[in-house]
Amino acid sequence: STVPSFSSSFSPPQLPPFDYEPKPYTGPLADDVFTKRKKFLGPSLFHYYQKPLNIVEGKMQYLYDESGRRYLDAIAGVVTVSCGHCHPRVLDAIMEQSKLLQHATTIYLHHAIGDFAEALASKMPANLKVVYFVNSGSEANELAMLMARLYSGNLGMISLRNSYHGGSSGTLGLTALNTWKYPIPQGEIHHVVNPDPYRGIFGSDGARYAKDVQDHIDFGTSGRVAGFIAETIQGAGGAVELAPGYLKNVYFIVRKAGGVCIADEVQSGFGRTGSHYWGFETQGVIPDIVTMAKGIGNGLPIGAVVTTPEIASVLASKIQFNTFGGNPVCSAGGLAVLRVLDEEKRQAHCADVGTHLIGRLKDLQQRYDIIGDVRGRGLMVGIEFVSDRKEKTPAKAEAAVLLEKLRELGVLVGKGGLHANVFRVKPPMCFTKDDADFLVDALEYSLAKF
Ligand code: PLP
Repeated sequence: STVPSFSSSFSPPQLPPFDYEPKPYTGPLADDVFTKRKKFLGPSLFHYYQKPLNIVEGKMQYLYDESGRRYLDAIAGVVTVSCGHCHPRVLDAIMEQSKLLQHATTIYLHHAIGDFAEALASKMPANLKVVYFVNSGSEANELAMLMARLYSGNLGMISLRNSYHGGSSGTLGLTALNTWKYPIPQGEIHHVVNPDPYRGIFGSDGARYAKDVQDHIDFGTSGRVAGFIAETIQGAGGAVELAPGYLKNVYFIVRKAGGVCIADEVQSGFGRTGSHYWGFETQGVIPDIVTMAKGIGNGLPIGAVVTTPEIASVLASKIQFNTFGGNPVCSAGGLAVLRVLDEEKRQAHCADVGTHLIGRLKDLQQRYDIIGDVRGRGLMVGIEFVSDRKEKTPAKAEAAVLLEKLRELGVLVGKGGLHANVFRVKPPMCFTKDDADFLVDALEYSLAKF
């Protein structure tokens, strides 16, 4: 039923107007950066597009390439730029702090770290009041896993198939998404069935998936575990929202087995899902440890682990030290992020724009069989492409072509999921309804011309 609403003479959709002039760029061009210097970057050079894209400037939800061309950034530097690129208030906070003090390790006190820790703790429910700062999501999850193991006195960790929790050696054990999974010894990690309502074997039955966690504990461990970690909406996994009721059931099972429950809010945190601040609120649970990074610093390298005083106390007998964790500039930037999100009411904005975007995408789905699923919440949205709706055959090659077409039209989206056939739309939280309309029109234009 591929019935494009565009006639063949329809002209390409145009980006919404935006009052900003990028600075003239005179630096090295894409060819120089990506071709001549490729050997220095090695496999760390990981980019989506056939032709390299040299991004030289960012302003709010838009990016500019070397020629001054504007793009809608619908993936936000992989869900990192929460407030907007170079948001003036975050920028001011970073500049002011940089002029005063750029670094002091946590063996000294500086007010920025205290201010930020207090503000962050005020966003957490219950007794989650102790904040450890680190530099990335991987470090946050490493620390959370250490705490879980020390606190419980057990080693076994449970994570979801299709999950991504980081690329360090410990978190690679938790990660199960095959695209990212290097074969390293992972020790005492159990990967349970993914509660994916679209592709999962138990449909939307959260309680049935939770039973698999119980089975792993009963048949694969001594009956005791250290902890369980999951995102509420999987990020790299393709914006998969866990089946309803899943976390409530699993948290009960895991706690009964002596484990602690960790919510990885690296992507779903800060109100992107349209909830108050955290993705876990959408499942009505309160974790024992919450990890976060990415959006917390609007692009600055900072992450955090927030937990209860009881769990934090397991680190009291030794030194748990992180040279850059809680760096003054990152802390000042992070504090400004929280203030901007609150004052600009970004959570409600995400809910509103997200509903509009998902509605329009679902409408598109009616007309294009290749769109197998549209899912997500707020501005954490997934579009899954299939070549056969009934069989749900992943349309990986088609997704790769569409990605290039969207780039040509000025839209940058993320690609991911188990089969690299899911577009992830997770823009800066200042993304507007006009941006959403442009994105959907650009997608329809690309599909119609397929
Ligand atoms: N957890 C989740 C859910 C992530 O998406 C990521 C990164 O994409 C990480 C952890 C690791 O974060 P980082 O890349 O900052 O180490």
